[in-house]
Amino acid sequence: MLIRGARVATSSAQTAGINLWTGNGRVSFSPVPSSRHLTLDLDGSLVLPGLINAHDHLELNLLPKLGCGPYPNASAWARDIYHPDEPPIKQHLTVPKPLRLQWGGIKNLLSGVTTVAHHNAFHPAFLDPSFPVRVVKRYGWAHSLHFSPDWETRLQNTPADYPFVIHAAEGVDEAARGEIQILDKTGALNRPIVLVHGVGVGRSDLPLLKRRTVGIVWCPTSNLFTLGRSLDTTILNSAIPIALGTDSAITADGDLLDELRIAHRTVDAHRLYKMVTSEPARIFKLPAGFGQICDGGPADFLVMNDSGQTPAMTLLENDPQLVMIRGRVQLISSEIARRCPLSMLQSLQPIELEGRGRYLVSSDVSHLLDETKRALQPPVRLAGKAVGA
Ligand SMILES: [Zn+2]
Repeated sequence: MLIRGARVATSSAQTAGINLWTGNGRVSFSPVPSSRHLTLDLDGSLVLPGLINAHDHLELNLLPKLGCGPYPNASAWARDIYHPDEPPIKQHLTVPKPLRLQWGGIKNLLSGVTTVAHHNAFHPAFLDPSFPVRVVKRYGWAHSLHFSPDWETRLQNTPADYPFVIHAAEGVDEAARGEIQILDKTGALNRPIVLVHGVGVGRSDLPLLKRRTVGIVWCPTSNLFTLGRSLDTTILNSAIPIALGTDSAITADGDLLDELRIAHRTVDAHRLYKMVTSEPARIFKLPAGFGQICDGGPADFLVMNDSGQTPAMTLLENDPQLVMIRGRVQLISSEIARRCPLSMLQSLQPIELEGRGRYLVSSDVSHLLDETKRALQPPVRLAGKAVGA
């Protein structure tokens, strides 16, 4: 496919007026023989790299927010909300897990995400070519120091070059603050490790963390809901790699675009752009080319209306118009669909998301909605927003 007419983001601040050719799932800045003979004219649009959501629990995005904080730490929150034999968790668990995972994928796709880090075991459903987004595959994980007594064994069983992902320092009390020291004493901070939340990380921890191989995932609305505060601004503005994540609907306000808009209250647009592109690509050790648009990289794009601003500001002020993954259209707005060759729209299905609008997506939305409505009272809500076909 040839994509022409758009500005293409080359960094958070810069763009280039170049043509993009896609073929075999990759992008080229010059014509490639494997490229199908389709042309997509995106005059008036800005092509950004597909976003990377650094933290989600994909199976938990049909639930409402649970809990009544603030709590001193995540363990207190979990003890308060975990009642699997009562509504709404009881009804939610009757929706088959593969369906709930699909919805989690759709939530991410609708916010321009093309790759997501799922915090749980890698599920075979993610390998299905019809899954809405890519899911990070090479990682080790434990839930947390508190809920994973075997976390050290899990860490030791994780290949040395894979990131090990764990909820850590998720709290504002002594217990949460002490987790950094516990992790350091075991040597866990001397290998690639991703600390999710880190709200208890203090300024006094900074010298240690800067010497170690640590990345932090920041989930602002989830932290504010459960703990009443989020990462210290000194940590946010330090040189530690930080990626933005949504967490799931049981604690967060919405999707990755919602998080970006809240996060912009404390962090500038250029750093935020990196927090959803290059920084998660680095923290999760994704292959070269992820989190950017480069010759030979993956053909994962988010297209938005071009209002003449920088890519960083465009991301904060617009909604997705088109999302491509591996060079395939996964989501398209009705506006862009009108300009597309019909062959590009085959097998897409309509979906409407409250507050965002109508799209066509590559998922079997009508089947998903029918099956989900068997268990849950309509309207189906995805990360808090009503969703329909
Ligand atoms: Zn989480």
